[in-house]
Amino acid sequence: LVSRENNANRSVVRVGGVPIGGATTTMIAGPCAVETPEQTRAAARMARDAGASLLRGGAYKPRTSPYAFQGLGEAGLKILADVRDETGLPIVTEVVDAADVELVASYADMLQIGTRNMQNFALLRAAGEAGRPVLLKRGMNATIEEWLMAAEYIAQRGNLDIVLCERGIRTFENATRNTLDISAVPVAQQLSHLPVIVDPSHSGGKRDLVLPLSRAAVAAGADGVIVDVHPEPETALCDGPQALVDGDLAELADVVGTLSGVL
Ligand code: PEP
Repeated sequence: LVSRENNANRSVVRVGGVPIGGATTTMIAGPCAVETPEQTRAAARMARDAGASLLRGGAYKPRTSPYAFQGLGEAGLKILADVRDETGLPIVTEVVDAADVELVASYADMLQIGTRNMQNFALLRAAGEAGRPVLLKRGMNATIEEWLMAAEYIAQRGNLDIVLCERGIRTFENATRNTLDISAVPVAQQLSHLPVIVDPSHSGGKRDLVLPLSRAAVAAGADGVIVDVHPEPETALCDGPQALVDGDLAELADVVGTLSGVL
């Protein structure tokens, strides 16, 4: 269902009216985690003012340590919905448990399935039935074929509104959080008709890598980027070191706009 053989034309997925795929390069930005209404609002305004068309933000956080901030849950979803009303930005937010899909879908414009859950088949099936577009991140240990098969689980339930997201894979290299597999962008686009975006924040893990990795993503033909932003990264409860601040965002918008216009 998701293969290029099944559909020779590349798909465009609409999220609350915003296209991902096709002629535009979509910029998605927002906090890694929803912490407070003020922090989420400030991050959303930064994102919107820089030209982002979708707001990201996690209310359910899949953390390596059970002692780390796990997200605000439904209270976080309510904050996101309020901020959507204020800014007009449709929201992309992660769901980590099949049992929560209906609840998260009642607030979200797009469901995110994270790297750790790429092969959580019950979750994929539930997301396929939720009536919302799905952002499917590549498992950090998954081949491109496994990633496309995970997308197939969602598609099989009748939902073809799927966007693939390359977010780095595990390699021997530890200078970066994960290794951004830039070749996955054209390879996935050759094999599948689905849009492919890149997360330079979770792959690089460092603020000063986000812009160069975004440049690489857009130059490789990515249909968009999804980045973390925070009004005060030093106080962030999750992934502060990779969050962009105000000035970086304008530059990112420039990179996304200029490069995609040229290509
Ligand atoms: C995220 O985008 O908030 C996230 C946790 O990403 P990943 O699943 O790629 O680690």
